[in-house]
Amino acid sequence: MSDKFDVVVIGSGPAGYVAAIRAAQLGLKTACIEKWKNTEGQGVNGGTCLNVGCIPSKALLDSSFKYHEAKEELGIHGISTKGVAMDIPAMLKRKNSIINQLTGGIAGLFKANGVTALYGTGKLLAGKKVELTDNDGAVTVIDADNVILASGSLPIAIPVAQLDGDLIVDSTGALEIGEVPKRLGVIGAGVIGLELGSVWNRLGSEVVLLEAMEDFLAIMDKGIAKESKKIFTKQGLDIRLGARVTGTEIKGKEVEVTYKAADGSEHKQTFDKLIVCVGRRAFTDGLLADDSGVQLDERGTVFVDDQCATNAPGVYAIGDLVRGPMLAHKGSEEGVMVAENIAGHKAQMNYDIVPNVIYTHPEVASVGQTEEQIKAAGEPYNVGTFPFSASGRAMAANDTQGMVKIIAHADTDRILGCHIVGPSAADLVQQVAIAMEFGSSAEDLGMTVFGHPTLSETVHEAALAVNGAAIHIPNRKRRK
Ligand code: FAD
Ligand code: AMP
Repeated sequence: MSDKFDVVVIGSGPAGYVAAIRAAQLGLKTACIEKWKNTEGQGVNGGTCLNVGCIPSKALLDSSFKYHEAKEELGIHGISTKGVAMDIPAMLKRKNSIINQLTGGIAGLFKANGVTALYGTGKLLAGKKVELTDNDGAVTVIDADNVILASGSLPIAIPVAQLDGDLIVDSTGALEIGEVPKRLGVIGAGVIGLELGSVWNRLGSEVVLLEAMEDFLAIMDKGIAKESKKIFTKQGLDIRLGARVTGTEIKGKEVEVTYKAADGSEHKQTFDKLIVCVGRRAFTDGLLADDSGVQLDERGTVFVDDQCATNAPGVYAIGDLVRGPMLAHKGSEEGVMVAENIAGHKAQMNYDIVPNVIYTHPEVASVGQTEEQIKAAGEPYNVGTFPFSASGRAMAANDTQGMVKIIAHADTDRILGCHIVGPSAADLVQQVAIAMEFGSSAEDLGMTVFGHPTLSETVHEAALAVNGAAIHIPNRKRRK
C-alpha cells in the first residue's frame, strides 16, 4: 500500500473501532485492520464484544429470562402461560441476527467517518510500519505515523479441561449450545461463568459452578457478593467454592470432572456439557515483530503508561491487551483518549470510575471502591444501604431482591463507591458513576429530586442513608 496513514489501528473490537472512528472524526487519516471472519469467511468488525462476548451473551440472557419469567413469574400478575415452550434454534438465530446487525453497523460507521477498513492480519514491525496479510494471503507493508494496538483477548485454556468442541467448550462454544443439557458444569464462577450458567439454569439445566477460590466474587464488595450468592443459590445455581478442577475425562456422551475441595478431599461429578470460564488472556500472538520495540509486562499484557503509550514511540495499546479490567467500555474510553492525544489534545481517562456489571437477574453492578478497599486504605467512611424490598416500584414489578449500598468519605461525604445487587443495577450504578465523576457528595445525591415511583429512588434513599436521613427505612443514625 503506497499511502501513509496518520493512524493504523490493529483490531476492531470496542477498543479498536472506537479509536479508529474518533481518530477519523478528528481529521486523522485512519485505517483499521481486522482479522475476524464470519461463518461465510468474510471479514467482520466488532471483535469479541460483538461476535462472541457482551452482545451475544446478553441476547441469550434476555431470551432465557423472558422464558423463565413467562414460565415462573407471570402467574403472580394473573397471567396464565400454560404450554409456554422454548425454541433453542430460534433463540440462537435471533442472537446471530443481532450480531450481524451490529457488526454490519461498524462497517457503516467506518464508511461514514472515512475510516479505511482493511481485512486481514496486522503485525507491528520496527519504525511504525505495519505488515498486513490479507485474507487471500497477500502481504503489504503500511506506513503509519501512529499505531494503536487493540488485538484484545482470548479465553484462557487449562490443560485439565481440554476443549473438544462438543462436550467441553469455552465461552465462545457456550454461545452455540443447541439443546438444553440436563447437567451443566461450569468451571469458574466469575462474571462470564455466572452469566452463562444463568442462561442454561433458566432454560432447565441443573447447573453446578466449580470455583477454585474460597471467596465468591472476590473482587466485589463483600456485602454485595454475599447477598448475590444467596440470591443465585435460591435460583438453583449450585455454586461450589474452593473447588479446584484437577481433571476431566470424556466418557461416551458425558464428561466426568474431578475437583479438589478446600479441605483437600477429591470429588467427581458427571455432566452432559462443561463450560470452561476461567478468565481471559491478552492476545499478542503474531502481533509484534521481534524488533517492534513494544514490551510486554510479566502477565503477558502490553506494557503501557497512563495514556496507553507503549515503550515504542508513536505506538499505543488499548483494551483487553493492556492492564486493567477486561471490559468493553474501558477499552473504548482508552481508544477515545489515545485518538484525542494523537490529535494533540490532552485527554485523560478516569480509571477510578469504571462501572462493572454482571448481567444475571438481578444484576450485580459496582463502581468505585469496595468497603474492604476503603477500610484497608485506612479512610474513615459512612455506608448507606437501601433494600429493593422497600421500593414501591420494585414491588409493583415483583422484583424486590437485593439492595443498594453507597459508601462516602466520613469527613468530606464524597462518594467513594456504589455497589448494587438488584433489578436494573447496571443502569442504577451508572447514575452514581455520573455523580462521582462530578465529585458528588452523598448529600448532593440526597438533595437531587428523583422521580416517583422509580427504581432510581433506591439510589436516592441509599445516599440519604449514608447520613442517617433515609425516609423509607429506619436509619442507623439520625442526621442532626
Ligand atoms: P476484542 O473485542 O477482543 O477485539 C480484538 C479484535 O482484534 C478482534 O476482533 C481480533 O480478531 C482482532 N485482532 C487480534 N489480533 C489481530 C491482528 N494481528 N490483526 C488484525 N486483527 C487482530 N465486557 C463488558 O464490558 N460487558 C459485558 O457484558 C461483557 N460480556 C462479555 C461476555 C463474554 C461471553 C465475553 C467473552 C466477554 C465479555 N466482555 C464484556 C468482555 C469484552 O468482550 C471485552 O472486554 C472487549 O471485547 C475487549 O475489547 P477489545 O477491543 O480490547 O478486544
Ligand atoms: P473471571 O476472571 O471473572 O472470568 O473468573 C474466572 C474464575 O475461574 C476465577 O474466579 C478463577 O478462580 C476460576 N478458576 C480458574 N481456574 C480454575 C480451576 N481449575 N477450577 C475452578 N475454578 C478455576
